[in-house]
Amino acid sequence: MFVRIYPLQPGTTTAAMEATHVAWCGSCGAASHRTDRPGVPIQCGDCGVDVPEDTFNYYVSPSAFRTDFRPTAKDVETPGQMAIRTVATIQRDGLPSRIGSLTVHVGAGTTIMNLNSGVEDENGQAKFFGADVVTDNDVLGWQKNVTLPEQAVDPGIEKIAGNPRWTATAPVAMRFGLLARKETDALFLEATGFNRRLNLDLVARRGTRSRIGARSAAVSATHLLVQKAALVLDVAPDEFEALEPRLRGDSPMLQIADTLINGSGLCRRLGEAETDGRPEIARLVEEVVGDRLQWPLKDFLDERHATRCSTSCYACVQQYQNRRYHPLLDWRLALSYLRGMIDPRYSCGLDGDFDTHPELWGWPAKAHDLAQAVASMRPRTLRYGRAGTGGRLPCLEERSVNGRLERRYVVVHPLWRLDAASIREFCVGPDGNPLFFVDTFDLERRPLNALKFAASRPEDDALTRRGGGPAAAA
Ligand SMILES: [Zn+2]
Ligand SMILES: [Zn+2]
Repeated sequence: MFVRIYPLQPGTTTAAMEATHVAWCGSCGAASHRTDRPGVPIQCGDCGVDVPEDTFNYYVSPSAFRTDFRPTAKDVETPGQMAIRTVATIQRDGLPSRIGSLTVHVGAGTTIMNLNSGVEDENGQAKFFGADVVTDNDVLGWQKNVTLPEQAVDPGIEKIAGNPRWTATAPVAMRFGLLARKETDALFLEATGFNRRLNLDLVARRGTRSRIGARSAAVSATHLLVQKAALVLDVAPDEFEALEPRLRGDSPMLQIADTLINGSGLCRRLGEAETDGRPEIARLVEEVVGDRLQWPLKDFLDERHATRCSTSCYACVQQYQNRRYHPLLDWRLALSYLRGMIDPRYSCGLDGDFDTHPELWGWPAKAHDLAQAVASMRPRTLRYGRAGTGGRLPCLEERSVNGRLERRYVVVHPLWRLDAASIREFCVGPDGNPLFFVDTFDLERRPLNALKFAASRPEDDALTRRGGGPAAAA
């Protein structure tokens, strides 16, 4: 049997042990952390909303781990799913370089924390860990008189009460999560000047600034960039860590870090100015979206790939290392997202142009096909139709059993901002019935739930706030 035993020393601070307090923003899902438990609400570094002081949890990095020194049966499985999250914070914000609508930050001394909050209960809430301080009276099992004092043991795993092996000396009586921290170099790409008719900023983990399609596009863009950078620098893609996107005030930010502790110099190199004075990463983004003779466009646009791959596959952005993200990855959305970051005029088809940029080729036909396929799943209540200027956009009409039109769903691109201005833009005339929008990302992946979800979603944040939000990420 294997048990997790933490040699914590409560009340003492050993050099190897570090601790911090972390809370997740209720509005956007970003992490805030403070060494000491805050006594007042803390402003979220990403979105500016107050994070209540009582939502901070304690995380420790144990000085070591030990087992119970007993052989393990081979087929013992670890139960439950660990709630593990990775968080990057910028310690020293280097001099940002602005290249048009893109701002590049190279952060030397970026802290990346892996946080483990334990298994989740049936409601998806992390259970955290606990520990009792005990003396281990039977370390080896065959030689008596070998004891180990001051052992912090997880009481949930090892039965302590009534077990002669353990003498409890002090219950820790506190909940904590586990923390692994590393310092490394990272690269941050902030989209400051993108076309605000697009929703590139809705990449928060949750809340009103979160749209799964936009977040998936940003995640895909990060993985695509990592693969491009690895190709150009001739290293393995896992030399980079593709971190999840986040907000920085009003702007979305893609994050890439060096995998090696203390940095391998790769991110620093991507942020270095080339002969034209611009950082190499800016050139790579342009090449990714604009050079059809190079990877990725050369391969992605090959007819054998483009006609078969509707979202992502092992021939494009999927790799074994990013398997956790496979359901989210989409090469067309990755290209749209990157193009939107560097071209403020790019409107991702909102202007009716689906021909100029290859990632939009065939999108209208695909949207109409998807709508027809969904309508055929529920032929009694759903009917396929057309909406907008010249019937450009597909639409699903939902009718009651007696044939009365109840609501309409207009099918849109996942990167279009859905607010009052969009309704005017799409020229979808109101007909007195409730009108909703459903995007092709949702419709493709969870057709019927997408409609339910669309009907309950509030309008997107119109985002007229200007001049940047809160200062740099915490
Ligand atoms: Zn927040
Ligand atoms: Zn593919």
